[in-house]
Amino acid sequence: MSIPPAPAIPEAHAGAVLTIDLDAIAANYRLLKDRLNGAQCAAVVKADAYGLGIERVAPVLAAAGCRVFFVALIEEGIDLRQILNDTGDADLVDAEIHVLGGLMAGTEEAFDASRLVPVLNSLDEIDAWKAYGGQIESPLPCDLHADTGMGRLGLPPGEVDTLAEEPSRLDGLNILGVISHLACADEPDHPKNGRQLEAFLDLRLRLHQGQACLANSSAIFLGPEYHFDMVRPGVALYGVGPVPGQPNPMAQVVRLQGKIAQVRDVDTPQTVGYGATHQVEGPGRVATVTVGYADGYLRSLSNKGTGYIGDTPVPVVGRVSMDLITLDVSSIPAHLCLPGRFVDLIGPNNPVERVAEDAGTIGYEILTSLGNRYHRVYTGGGA
Ligand SMILES: *Cc1c(COP(=O)(O)O)cnc(C)c1O
Repeated sequence: MSIPPAPAIPEAHAGAVLTIDLDAIAANYRLLKDRLNGAQCAAVVKADAYGLGIERVAPVLAAAGCRVFFVALIEEGIDLRQILNDTGDADLVDAEIHVLGGLMAGTEEAFDASRLVPVLNSLDEIDAWKAYGGQIESPLPCDLHADTGMGRLGLPPGEVDTLAEEPSRLDGLNILGVISHLACADEPDHPKNGRQLEAFLDLRLRLHQGQACLANSSAIFLGPEYHFDMVRPGVALYGVGPVPGQPNPMAQVVRLQGKIAQVRDVDTPQTVGYGATHQVEGPGRVATVTVGYADGYLRSLSNKGTGYIGDTPVPVVGRVSMDLITLDVSSIPAHLCLPGRFVDLIGPNNPVERVAEDAGTIGYEILTSLGNRYHRVYTGGGA
């Protein structure tokens, strides 16, 4: 397999425990699907299922009914095909795997061998896939990705016009879908959403083959007019709120518990950590926890993050270093705050989006940064 399985680190050896609730992922899939009124619900599992482990996550989504997966890179697709085959479930052997990154020159045979669907982003990619299909004399499956305003990947409007004027350029291809991607779906009032919707409706009149697919997680919540034939959520499946600023309807998936290595008494005029950025203001206690930026606890959480012991907040004081953070635990009774005990760094009181906000980033980056030095525990999903 191309993505090596995460090394299994025993709990006693690990600096932290990362728990991933597979039942919550399945529940989130069903919650999204139930909003759709008939449209198909695909799942985006790129970047190792947003850092949560595609090997465990994909079979759970499949068991919840998902039959169409999107990945970013061909290598992720090859890996996922193997994972689905290994389930031994005849139903899943035929699941579709679409590769958003498109068709790189020289990868045609590998796409074909693992029955991957390239999302074609240009006339050149269309021509290359057609040429390969001609050699093996069977129509090859693909999607067309049209750029309606993201300005990142996809056929630019001029190339869409060319296809509309010369439909024979698509002869010999089995077009499963026409997709596009919204730039501002997480800002419901942004005028760009409506403009991209109009552009997509317009191009569907001219490129009407296959299923229409526009919505990511946030766009599902913009309304049914954004759902079309299929949606392709990612981050909401993994528990991150799809509409920033609104209550999060998704079940929380991730819990990260850092382990206390040492607790020390501090007093003025001490400072804590690199750069002496935290000045101790009076008598108190600081706990040192074995998680750092090398584990994806971002350095921007220095003097900003918050852990929890039970329901009591314990603020990060001083800089996040590579392997350690320091938290002010003065408010916690000493017997509840001893070496070996846990502090919630992501948990019920500080969900992924809260940590992201404290770090000045988005939940996507928190999830995909989660490190490989944790003791990983999967719950539910028949685990
Ligand atoms: C990553 C990605 C998605 C999934 O987006 P979420 O915001 O995680 O739901 C959908 N479509 C494309 C093109 C993507 O790159």
